[in-house]
Parts: sequence; C-alpha cells; structure tokens
Amino acid sequence: MKIGFIGLGNMGAPMAANLASAGHEVIGFDTVATPDGLALAASASEAAQGADLVITMLPNGEILRSVAAEILPQMKNAVLLDCSTVDVASARSVAAQAADLGCAALDAPVSGGIGGAQNGTLTFMVGGPESAFETAKPLFDIMGQKSVHCGAAGNGQAAKICNNMILGITMIGTCEAFALADKLGLDRQAMFDVVSTSSGYSWSMNAYCPAPGVGPQSPADNAYQPGFAAALMLKDLRLSQDAASDADADTPLGKAATALYQTFVEDEGQGTKDFSAMLPRFSARSRE
Ligand code: NAD
Repeated sequence: MKIGFIGLGNMGAPMAANLASAGHEVIGFDTVATPDGLALAASASEAAQGADLVITMLPNGEILRSVAAEILPQMKNAVLLDCSTVDVASARSVAAQAADLGCAALDAPVSGGIGGAQNGTLTFMVGGPESAFETAKPLFDIMGQKSVHCGAAGNGQAAKICNNMILGITMIGTCEAFALADKLGLDRQAMFDVVSTSSGYSWSMNAYCPAPGVGPQSPADNAYQPGFAAALMLKDLRLSQDAASDADADTPLGKAATALYQTFVEDEGQGTKDFSAMLPRFSARSRE
C-alpha cells in the first residue's frame, strides 16, 4: 500500500519504520521530527496525496482536527487511520467530515507504549466502518499483535479511555494498599504473594507491580523511569472525564484518580515519572 504517515514522534516513527520494513511505500510528515531512514514529505497534504491510507499519530484532538481538515479534501476514497489518543468528540467529528468527503475514517488508539511501537506488538482498539477495518487489518498485524473492532466511529477511543480509567484507579488502589501494608508491618513480598493470587489481583499488581524488587520486572525496578509516564496517564484520565461529562456518566473514582494524578503531575512535578510512582508518594505521606 502507499501510506502517508503524519506525526513521527516517539510512537509514530517506529510504527512507520515497521510498515516500511514490511514493504509498504511510506511517506512521512512531522512539523518537527525528521527520523532517519524514512521518506519525508514537505507537508501533511503532500504526505496524503495519492496515498491509499493515511495514518496520523498526533498529540491531541485539536491537532488531529486541523490536520484532518487539511488532508481529507485530497484523500479521494482513501482511509484515514488515526492512532492517536484523542477525545471521543474529535474522533466522531473527523469521521463525520471524512464521510461527507467520501472517505472512511477509523479511530484506532493503541496500548503497548513505545516498546510496543518499536517491537510491533501494539494492541489497536478500533472504531469505524467494518470495510475500512478490513482494509487496515494487514497494517494492524504489522504494527501490532492484536486489533479489536469496537463498533462505530469513536468507539476505539471510548474503549481506550475506559480501559485507562480502570488502570489509573487500580494503580492508585494497589499503591495505597502497599503503603498501608508497609505501615501495618506486612512484608511487600508476602503482600504480593497473597494479593496476586487473591481477589485483589489486577494487571497493576500482577504484571506491573509498583513495589521495587517484587513481582515481574517493572518501572519500579528502574527508579520509576517510564514505562507509562504519569503525564500520559493524566491525559487519558482527563479524556475519560471529558467523555463522562458529555455522556452524563457518573464516574466518582475516575474523577478522584484524575484529581490525584493532576496533583502528582502539576503541583508535585512528577509527570515524567512512571505512573506507578504513586507508591513512593503514598509511602512518604501521612494520613490527611
Ligand atoms: P510525541 O509527542 O512523541 O509525538 C507526536 C508528534 O506529532 C511529534 O513529533 C510532533 O512534532 C508531531 N506533530 C504535532 N503537530 C503536528 C502537525 N500539525 N503535523 C504533523 N506532526 C505534528 O507523542 P507520542 O508519544 O508519539 O504519542 C502520540 C500519540 O500516541 C498521543 O496521542 C499519545 O497519547 C498516544 N500514545 C502514546 C503512548 C506512549 O507511551 N508514548 C502510548 C499510547 C498512546
């Protein structure tokens, strides 16, 4: 396929490289980044011109909307595949604009982080028309190990922010339980051995344990270098709360998790630490 790839940052550059290595003709564009080894266009429009499919991997919904407005008019019958994490409303608005112009748009946010992008092991959560999903499926199989079609436009973003709302909440719960266990004199390894095989288990405990030296290797074992940075968790939690507001959904723990990560990132300057660094934060504090 001839693929335009717009947004060549930490995630986009290795995803584009994997598509090119698999034999696709990839032409990239980024306002700042110029990764080696990839054919580059002078503008987003130029990258989109004549492409069968255009992938975007951008910071937020506002930028996605402006890039989409620029490229969609020249994307005759091509598929727009947005892999960024953006608000549900922007994903649906771009999909409607694409449909008006005779293109199909998919929202396909990813989980798996920079390592997943480099190793081609991302998971894609996809919203949009089934036929466009089938067109993009071979590309999902190169860039990732799993793609799930979640329904209509915006549903990929909906799945992503619901998943990450659970993740933020369970990570906070796991960290505060470790901090309590410490103060009760319970050994961290014993805590892990019990909880990871009991009803308190979760991905946060079992696969990404926030306590150093306990459980499988995780960012906790590397001085809380990300991993998944707390600032990115805050971004996703905010998106969950924007969506909850729009949909009139009651999400009290999502709201509390957002407020806590906001304090951690903005007031305490810990945005570049892994999101599991909530554990040393709680450990250092007393009950309010
Ligand atoms: P990044 O900041 O490294 O990359 C974004 C790139 O977009 C930058 O290179 C920037 O120059 C470029 N850009 C900005 N405006 C542009 C425009 N108008 N035209 C062309 N390029 C433009 O971010 P990232 O870590 O690669 O994340 C990309 C997306 O993936 C985000 O939506 C993020 O939430 C999501 N995501 C990131 C991770 C992660 O671990 N980094 C994990 C899952 C999802």
